[in-house]
Amino acid sequence: MIDTHTHVYLPEFAEDVDEVIARAREAGVNTCWLPGIDNGSLDSMLALKARYGDYFELFAGLHPTEVGADYRSRLDSIGCALSDHIYKGIGEIGLDLYWDATYRREQEDALRVQLDWAVAQDRPVLLHVRQAYDEIMSIVRSYYDRGLRGIFHCFAGTLEQARELTGAGFLLGINGSITYKNTPQREFIRQIPLQYIVTETDAPYLSPVPLRGRRNEPANIPLVVACLASLYGMTAEEVARQTEMNARGL
Ligand SMILES: [Zn+2]
Repeated sequence: MIDTHTHVYLPEFAEDVDEVIARAREAGVNTCWLPGIDNGSLDSMLALKARYGDYFELFAGLHPTEVGADYRSRLDSIGCALSDHIYKGIGEIGLDLYWDATYRREQEDALRVQLDWAVAQDRPVLLHVRQAYDEIMSIVRSYYDRGLRGIFHCFAGTLEQARELTGAGFLLGINGSITYKNTPQREFIRQIPLQYIVTETDAPYLSPVPLRGRRNEPANIPLVVACLASLYGMTAEEVARQTEMNARGL
């Protein structure tokens, strides 16, 4: 299994990251992908990569909630970081109109700049979208025929949006929120072929049931896999094998 979106480089894990990784391995999670949030994330991500090698794959990007008046200079430093091929892709990037919509235009511009990089550099993207699915789709649509590929992390759109995005080749990241009773995606996710689904934790956030409210960690991926297995009417082994293949394919 792969955790395609985890923030174990954050201070929440500073005390016990080695044990967290040992538990993840024990649970059958063989790779973790680390999305950056801004330039400041990269040092602690690189430190984990130096210690654990291939266990981690790194992504660099400017997160939409980090876009402010100075976003141009922050993009410049992300752009410099991306000249290092240690970064497999660009992320997490996107639109977030939930926390603060003050810099909406700037968020959209930062997103376009980074999507252009992804196309030019042939790197996949990890997309963060909160309360902005219509808005991001009107941007991403113009990239469908330009070879853009990636994951809509923590997918929270509609069935119609899921169909359009997977039709364009994007993958949907599913995490612990699929185990929550009121999550709308529970009702329709099985209508999306499993070949478009990847697993993630978004640790330290969004712990799956029955651990909801606690700090999340990659070792909880099997709970997401088990939930997907019951929603798709498949075995956990089948879901684990297919979703890992999907992530590796990307
Ligand atoms: Zn994230």
